[in-house]
Amino acid sequence: MALSPHDNPKPTIMTQVAIVGCGVIGAMIAYELSQIPHLNITVFDRQAPAQASTGAALGVLMGAISQKQKGDRLHMRLASIQRYNTLIPELQAKTGHAIPFNQQGILRLCFAEDDLTSWQKLIALRQTQGWHLEILDQTQLQATYPHIQNERVLAAIHSRDDRQVDPVALTLALITAAQQQGVIFQFNTKVEQLTSSPQTEHPSLQTCQQLHTSSGSFSVDWVIVAAGLGSTPLTASLHSPIDLRPVLGQALHIQLPQPLQLTAEPVITGEDIHIVPLGQGSYWIGATVEFLANELDPEKIVPDPDRLQPLLQGAISFCPALATGTIGKTWSGLRPRPEGRPAPIIECLPGYQNVLLATGHYRNGILLAPATAQKVKEMMSLNEAHSGYRPSSLP
Ligand SMILES: Cc1cc2nc3c(=O)[nH]c(=O)nc-3n(C[C@H](O)[C@H](O)[C@H](O)COP(=O)(O)OP(=O)(O)OC[C@H]3O[C@@H](n4cnc5c(N)ncnc54)[C@H](O)[C@@H]3O)c2cc1C
Repeated sequence: MALSPHDNPKPTIMTQVAIVGCGVIGAMIAYELSQIPHLNITVFDRQAPAQASTGAALGVLMGAISQKQKGDRLHMRLASIQRYNTLIPELQAKTGHAIPFNQQGILRLCFAEDDLTSWQKLIALRQTQGWHLEILDQTQLQATYPHIQNERVLAAIHSRDDRQVDPVALTLALITAAQQQGVIFQFNTKVEQLTSSPQTEHPSLQTCQQLHTSSGSFSVDWVIVAAGLGSTPLTASLHSPIDLRPVLGQALHIQLPQPLQLTAEPVITGEDIHIVPLGQGSYWIGATVEFLANELDPEKIVPDPDRLQPLLQGAISFCPALATGTIGKTWSGLRPRPEGRPAPIIECLPGYQNVLLATGHYRNGILLAPATAQKVKEMMSLNEAHSGYRPSSLP
């Protein structure tokens, strides 16, 4: 079965691109690639969009506040934050969707065990990189954020350029904007297997030619695997498995009678607990980081609700007013973590020229989605330009 033609007028010779997975990564790639005229893009997801890891995420975008000093991963973080600043208004204008986007920055609490000298050095470094971090001593912290009351908090770093975004609203807006530009989405369609054959010009390399789904088989020129934890079985079907392991995260929603502060609030983060303001006294608190020694099958992992108690107590220990709140829903999700190598994995599947991996984003998939999509775009054009890979549909 051939991929369906799009409604938009497009050049007659089209490259067929299949994206597997419609979490934030697949949706972001679909949107960014939809701006390239000769691509016919179809996104497959075995369920509705933004249900898996993306559906559980808090959307905290830790760019400048990250303690990374240099390198590609820092670059990806900062480039993503910059892209978010233009992307959110762009998507809102195109789709009319409201996308909650907190631009008050991130306030990172510092405790006795934190080395304030290394923070001072990071502040100086970020300044040379064009990013603004500010250190607040206890007196300044008390004056600006009186609801933070814990004598162990000695200072705080305010990273005003960092952001927080609602991951589900973002993903749904990306889908709408991509659809407007001709991308086809096939939800509730599981990709069961990918099949390949050796490339004529480079017999040591394979080309993935067919994607077999629960609703039929499709010919493809490119496959982008953005399937989170589902990337492991998919790549195994191409005899080149990528080892991703689940790391459980649990979070909760709390409603206060009134907001912690009356002016616009930053995300507060301390001892790996985020307090995410949503407006009108509503907050997300998260998330646990639970390594699963015994059970790795995502279908069989059952969260232990008792693990939410230390999270809530930790948040209350910085912001005692949270104790007056009513807990609404609690939820959990599985972060896709690469085993034995750093996150994320954005590269060609070993042995393949037309299978790109955009997966294994672990704790920072929402943050890194824009830079991931940019990299995928660059890798596709580099492969077409330099490695001799020509999609079969091109003359
Ligand atoms: C509790 C929690 C809090 C988090 N907080 C943050 C945060 O504050 N900031 C941040 O940057 N990140 C955060 N993360 C991490 C972030 O959620 C992930 O890194 C990110 O969502 C990964 O996105 P993804 O699109 O790769 O994967 P997913 O969102 O898991 O999407 C993968 C999709 O692929 C589909 N799929 C899988 N296999 C197949 C198949 N065979 N056929 C068809 N479809 C398939 C699935 O149905 C799914 O929709 C958090 C995660 C958790 C769990």
